Amino acid sequence: MSLNVEDLARANVRALTPYQSARRLGGNGDVWLNANEFPLPVPFELSQQTLNRYPECQPKQVIERYAAYAGLQPDQVLVSRGADEGIELLMRAFCEPGKDAILFCPPTYGMYSVSAETIGIEYRTVPALDNWQLNLPAIADKLDGVKLVYMCSPNNPTGNLINPDDIRQLLEMTAGKALLVADEAYIEFCPEATLAGWLKDYPHLVILRTLSKAFALAGLRCGFTLANKPVIDLLLKVIAPYPWQPQ
Ligand SMILES: *Cc1c(COP(=O)(O)O)cnc(C)c1O
Repeated sequence: MSLNVEDLARANVRALTPYQSARRLGGNGDVWLNANEFPLPVPFELSQQTLNRYPECQPKQVIERYAAYAGLQPDQVLVSRGADEGIELLMRAFCEPGKDAILFCPPTYGMYSVSAETIGIEYRTVPALDNWQLNLPAIADKLDGVKLVYMCSPNNPTGNLINPDDIRQLLEMTAGKALLVADEAYIEFCPEATLAGWLKDYPHLVILRTLSKAFALAGLRCGFTLANKPVIDLLLKVIAPYPWQPQ
C-alpha cells in the first residue's frame, strides 16, 4: 500500500521551513553564539524529587517570585515553556487564522514568522530603519487587520533598544486594535529599559521574558508573559494543561 502522508498534512505545514535553531543546525565548538546561551553550566537543584504526578498548570511559588522580581502582581504573570510558547499562545488567543495578521520589524527574532506560518496567520513585515529603529509611518500604513505587533527590545540580533518615545507612539497607534508584544528576552542586560512599569497605563501591552539567556537556564524551558489580568486570563484558556515547570 502506498500512501504519501505528506499529502495529508496542512498545506502551510508542508510549505513551512522550521525554525533554524542552533541545535538543529548543528556544528561544533563550545560556545554557540547563534543560540545566545550562557556557555557554562550553573548549579541547579530540583526541590521536587518525584515525577509521578502531573505538575500544577501555573506553579504558585514560581509565579509569586517572578512577579516580585518583575515588580508586578501575580495575576499579571503567566509561566510557559520558554518565551517561545508565549509568542505562540498570543497568536492562538488573539488571531483568527486566514483573517487576522501579525506584524514585526526585521531583522529580528525568527520565531514570530515560524509560529505565524505554523498556525496559518498572515505576517507583515516593516523593515527597521538604517539606525535599527521603528519605521512608524510604514507601520501605521500596514496596521489594518493586525492583531499583534511583536517588537523585540533589546533586539535580537542587532542588540539595540527601541526608542521609548517611538514605543509610546506605537502604543497610541495600536490602542483598541492590536496588542503590542514587547519581547524582553535580553532585558537583564539593560534592566532600566523594561516596559513592566507601563502595564498600568496600557491594557494592550504584553511583555515576554525568559530564563534562557541572562539566567543561564536555557535547558529548563521556562519563560514568562507579563500583562494585565484580562490578557493573562485569555492565555490561560489556550495553554496546555500541564506545561512542565521546574519546582
Ligand atoms: C531566545 C529568545 C526567545 C525564546 O526564549 P525561550 O524562553 O528559550 O523560548 C524569545 N525571544 C528572543 C528575542 C530570544 O532571543
